[in-house]
Amino acid sequence: MTRRILVIDDDAAVRETIMQTLDERGYEVITAENGALGLAASRRARPDLAITDIVMPVMEGLQTIRELRRERPAMPIVAISCGSHAGRNVLLDIARQLGAWEVLVKPFDLDELAARVECCLSPRWVSP
Ligand SMILES: [Mg+2]
Repeated sequence: MTRRILVIDDDAAVRETIMQTLDERGYEVITAENGALGLAASRRARPDLAITDIVMPVMEGLQTIRELRRERPAMPIVAISCGSHAGRNVLLDIARQLGAWEVLVKPFDLDELAARVECCLSPRWVSP
């Protein structure tokens, strides 16, 4: 069964890179350039997992995570965002509190992203 991944990011290059990475690993990938479009895509395509950026126009990522969590309580969400100079990002801490299963600081290793996605979709993984 092909797993469908929704990638939400306002940066076209990031969307393209993640899409290519996951496509190579056999996932079906759909993309959206902001949270509002991402939410619409989630309703339409019922993805198995969503990856979302945090800083975006129209609807930012924290609000997007809240909405996705409400509509799709069991769907794994991976939040991605740029790190501060300390290599941490308080927005990603909030994303985790709002229900993101995994968070990754940009720029992240693409193999690492793929590993986290695979882990989230593994049947051994039990949602908290
Ligand atoms: Mg952004």
